[in-house]
Amino acid sequence: MLKQKNRKKLEFDPQKLLDDMVTFVAVLDTAGTIIFVNNTPLIAAGITLKDIVGIKFWDASWWAYSQDAIDAIQNDSQSCAAGNSLLHEIQLATADGTLIWIEYSMHPIFDDEGNVEYLVPEGRDITEKKEQQFQMQRLAHYDILTGLPNRTLFADRFKIALAHANRNETLLAVCFVDIDHFKPINDNYGHEEGDQLLVEIAQRLDSCIRREDTVSRMGGDEFTMLLGVHSQKECEDLVKRILTTLSKPYCLSRNTHSITASCGITLYPYDDADADVLTRHADQAMYEAKISGKNKFIFFDAKKEHSTQIYADFLDTISRAIASNEMGLYYQPKINMKTGYIYGVEALIRWNHPTKGLQSPIEFLPYIQKTVVMIELGKWVISQALHQLNLWYKEKKQWRMSINIDAYHFTNNDFCSALENALSQYANPLGKFLEIEILETEDFSDLNSVSSRITTCQSLGVHFALDDFGTGYCSLLYLKKLPINCLKIDQSFVKDILTDKKDRSLINGIIALSRAFDVDIIAEGVETLEDGIALLELGCVNAQGYYIAKPMPILEFLVWSKKYTPEKQWKKVIEIQG
Ligand code: C2E
Ligand code: MG
Ligand code: MG
Repeated sequence: MLKQKNRKKLEFDPQKLLDDMVTFVAVLDTAGTIIFVNNTPLIAAGITLKDIVGIKFWDASWWAYSQDAIDAIQNDSQSCAAGNSLLHEIQLATADGTLIWIEYSMHPIFDDEGNVEYLVPEGRDITEKKEQQFQMQRLAHYDILTGLPNRTLFADRFKIALAHANRNETLLAVCFVDIDHFKPINDNYGHEEGDQLLVEIAQRLDSCIRREDTVSRMGGDEFTMLLGVHSQKECEDLVKRILTTLSKPYCLSRNTHSITASCGITLYPYDDADADVLTRHADQAMYEAKISGKNKFIFFDAKKEHSTQIYADFLDTISRAIASNEMGLYYQPKINMKTGYIYGVEALIRWNHPTKGLQSPIEFLPYIQKTVVMIELGKWVISQALHQLNLWYKEKKQWRMSINIDAYHFTNNDFCSALENALSQYANPLGKFLEIEILETEDFSDLNSVSSRITTCQSLGVHFALDDFGTGYCSLLYLKKLPINCLKIDQSFVKDILTDKKDRSLINGIIALSRAFDVDIIAEGVETLEDGIALLELGCVNAQGYYIAKPMPILEFLVWSKKYTPEKQWKKVIEIQG
């Protein structure tokens, strides 16, 4: 009991006050013996005051169903007797076995000398609050409809499963399951029926896995599973069983449904990635399963992904190389063998790679086919070419520059407007000095639209050449349909002009075609004096090739152009021809 002298000073009945409180308050001596307790806990536990006064606090019967609580209270009492204040939440079992939660604190009361005289534990029933908390946690961790773990809990379980796989050197199969054709069920039978079906599917999935595995609902008709396995075969067997189970009929309250599911799987640590990436990989594999016919499972191919990643990185590197001016244009002169006149250049791309040195187009162009990087590159080439043409224009140099534009870029919707825009950046009329070389290619499926694009660009003064003429399989059709200005005889024909009669005849035919269609003609790959002579004899005066000059950086080309002396023997051929 509290000291009598203190009680007398109070003007209200503290016992009544304490009994009315929802909290319980007790006073203990420093050994933990109960001196006083209000009625609150006693009423709840059906105990009377006399039953417990005089016994140790932790021996009071309302703790009796929980050894953990007894231990905790005994420890706390000892700590409080040493002068500490404590606050705890503990779970207790009442006499009828109901579990309740108590939040209690224990404070020491000191005498005038500063020694602990009493311990005052007080506490209250927080069972309701705790249940609300648990409910909130359930909502935060479990899917309301199916009761399966949700994304959040899945992420927690994933960490544990990865640690387990690492510790035990087992495999972890991460599976992404998506129900095939689920939407029509929702659409045709309503969401309630769709929900019923999802609940049933969830139950079946749950029934197929072991206790230590996880199945969760990611949302909609998507489920993920974490399965600890020892081999790919074990995983296959398990997933096959799951898909078979899912495909059995579902007898719902109104209708019976049959469904199938597609599943993507990735196996950790074969696929050595973190949880997010593993989930994405399983999702990717699931899409593959969908695309390749549904109702099946597909394993994620880490090696294939790796090469895709390398490819993506390579594209990125080239894109950066363009942006940071690692690319450069080399210029190869084009001359008229009859007059000796340098009438233009072909600009050819080179990549000045920071570690590998100068790269020719064959080393990187094939990798950027049909990608936006090809368009970026083409735009860059156009801007460089116009910049150079503008300088030449100011210096009154009349060289025409041809650039190579890929069909994918040329057929891009905004090609003409972008070219027009690029030309409009300059006050000088540069269009007429620009020639675009395009390859015959199957990308020109719509020749009418290609033709009208060429016409649009020609209205800006730009010329067009068909590059590598004769190597594509539509040469004649292209020549007929496309309003080009020039044909470039492919170097493969020129190479053997002296030794192969057929090549010589082909070149002869191409020259005749150019005349018939009234277009210019140039031969590329002129490597010897004799190649040039043979071409002149056949009537082709324009040439480009190593015999004249190799492609060069701009300054080298300018020096070369000053020193260049025309080949006298070629002039002679013309004189002999009269
Ligand atoms: P192309 O347009 O037919 O260019 C001619 C190629 O033949 C060039 O190779 C040139 O260096 C080479 N060549 C010139 N004269 C001779 C010779 O006498 N003998 C031999 N054996 N070869 C000669 P390069 O520069 O390696 O370019 C290869 C191809 O890459 C080009 O063929 C063109 O189709 C493409 N290309 C070059 N630059 C670009 C560009 O800026 N954009 C696009 N899209 N393609 C380009
Ligand atoms: Mg070319
Ligand atoms: Mg060519």
